[in-house]
Amino acid sequence: IDDFFKNIISHAKEYGFVFPSSEIYDGLSAVYDYGQLGSELKNNLKTYWWKSMVQLNDNIVGIDAAIFMHPTTWKASGHVDGFSDPMIDNKDSKKRYRADQLIEDKIDRYEQDGKSDKAAELQTALDAALNADDLAKLKTLIEEHNIVCPMSGTKNWTDVRQFNLMFATQMGAMADGAEQVYLRPETAQGIFVNFLNVQKTGRMKVPFGIAQIGKAFRNEVIARQFIIRMREFEQMEMQFFVRPGTEMEWYDKWKALRLKWHLALGPDAAKYRYHDHAKLAHYANAAVDIEYDFPFGFKEVEGIHSRTDFDLSQHQKFSGKKMQYFDPEVNQNYVPYVIETSIGLDRLFLTVFANSLVHEDLSTDEKQDSRVVLKFHPAIAPVKAAVLPLTKKDGLPDKAKEILARLKLDFNTQYDEKDAIGKRYRRQDAIGTPYCITVDYQTLEDNTVTIRHRDSMEQERVSIDQLQQIIQDNVGW
Ligand code: ATP
Repeated sequence: IDDFFKNIISHAKEYGFVFPSSEIYDGLSAVYDYGQLGSELKNNLKTYWWKSMVQLNDNIVGIDAAIFMHPTTWKASGHVDGFSDPMIDNKDSKKRYRADQLIEDKIDRYEQDGKSDKAAELQTALDAALNADDLAKLKTLIEEHNIVCPMSGTKNWTDVRQFNLMFATQMGAMADGAEQVYLRPETAQGIFVNFLNVQKTGRMKVPFGIAQIGKAFRNEVIARQFIIRMREFEQMEMQFFVRPGTEMEWYDKWKALRLKWHLALGPDAAKYRYHDHAKLAHYANAAVDIEYDFPFGFKEVEGIHSRTDFDLSQHQKFSGKKMQYFDPEVNQNYVPYVIETSIGLDRLFLTVFANSLVHEDLSTDEKQDSRVVLKFHPAIAPVKAAVLPLTKKDGLPDKAKEILARLKLDFNTQYDEKDAIGKRYRRQDAIGTPYCITVDYQTLEDNTVTIRHRDSMEQERVSIDQLQQIIQDNVGW
C-alpha cells in the first residue's frame, strides 16, 4: 500500500504534475507546486466543478472574493477564538504534534497488533475528550498509553495547548499603524460577507447558491500525506441559501448530488463512502463527509454541512447590517439557512490520480512487457492528443505540424518526434493522453492518419478531416 502511494508521488513528480515547493532550497513543508501537467489537470477539475455547479444550475452564481478580509470577519465566524488544534510538544526533540493525531496513530498500532479491544477503548476515550474539549484528558491518554515521540522515542511531553491554525500578517506599510490581517482559512466567509451584494445585484431568489474557487491557508502542524494536508490549498465551495425549515431537505439533496458528481469521473463506487460527523461544529446542525479510499485509508475529500443561519446571523451582529431576505412567497423577512458543499481541489486531484494510475502487464509468451498509464476521464486529461510523425524526415514532421496547428485551437496538444514510436506512445500513456495521432508515409498520399486509443491501445485509420470531431466527441463535457 505504501509502495502504491510512493509510486503516485514519484510519478506525479517525474511527469511534471506536482513538485515540492521551492525544491532547490530543500522544499517547504506541506507546500507544493503544480507543474506543467498538474496545472492543466487542476484547471480541468475546476472547470468540471464550475460547469456543473454554476453553469448547469440557474440559481447558482459564482464569485471570486479576495484572500484578505476585514479582520472582524474572523471574529464573527468564530475562527479567532475557535479554529485551533490541540497541540503537544516533546521536550527532547522540540517537535510539536497534534495530540489527537498521536492518539489516533496509537489506535492504528493497536489495530495492527490485533488488540482491537484496546483500540476501541482508546477511540471512545479520545472521542469523549475531544467532545468535551478536555485538553488535560488528552495528555493523560498520551501518558497512560505510553505514547512516545515519533522523532526521539521519548515520553517527555508538555501540556496540551490549543494552537490557532490561521496565518496572520500585517497590512499597511508602517509597522505601528499596521493592522493584523489573516490569510483566509476557508473561502466560505468571502461568500457570506457578499450575500447581500449578490442577492440584490443578481436579483437572486431563495433558494439560491453562491460558488467560489480559491486558495485557503491553514497552519497545519501535521505536515504529511503529500497534497492531502497542505498549508496552502485550494477549495471549491458553494453556499446554498434556503428558507428556514427546509434545510434538511436541501442537505439530503446536495449530499446525494455531490456523490454522484464524484462518481461521474469514473471511479469504482466502492472507493467512496459517506461519513456522518459524530461531533458537529459549533455552526452545524448536520454534517457529512464524502470520503475516498486512499492507499492509506478513507479520508475526507468533500464536506456537506448544514450551517443553519449561524454565519449570516454572526455577520449581522458584528457588522450591524441586516443580513436578511424578504421572501415574497411567504411574505416574511428572515436570515436564510445555509447548506454548504466544500471540496478540497488538491484532495480531489489526488483521488483522480490514485484512481487513474495503472501498471499494466502486457507480457506475451515471446516477451516481457508492461506500461504505466494514467487512465484519466478524457474530459480532465491534461493533454488531449499528441501528434507524432513516424520519422523525422521526408516531410512527415511538416505534415504533423500542420495537423497540430489545426487541433491546438481546440485542444491542449503535444508534438513529439523523438525516439521510436512505441516509446512515444508509452510517454503519452504515462501522462494520460487519450489520443495519439501518427503521421506516416501513407498520410502524404491520402491524408489519413492512425489514431491510437490510450486505454484499448487499438489503432484506426481515419481521415485528417475527421480528427477534430472524433476527439471532440470524446473529450467534451
Ligand atoms: P480535515 O478534518 O481533514 O482536516 P476539515 O474537516 O478541516 O478537514 P473542512 O474545513 O471541512 O476540512 O474543509 C473542506 C475541504 O477542504 C475538506 O473536505 C478538504 O478536502 C479540504 N481541506 C481542508 N484542509 C485541507 C488541507 N490542509 N490541505 C488540503 N485540503 C484541505
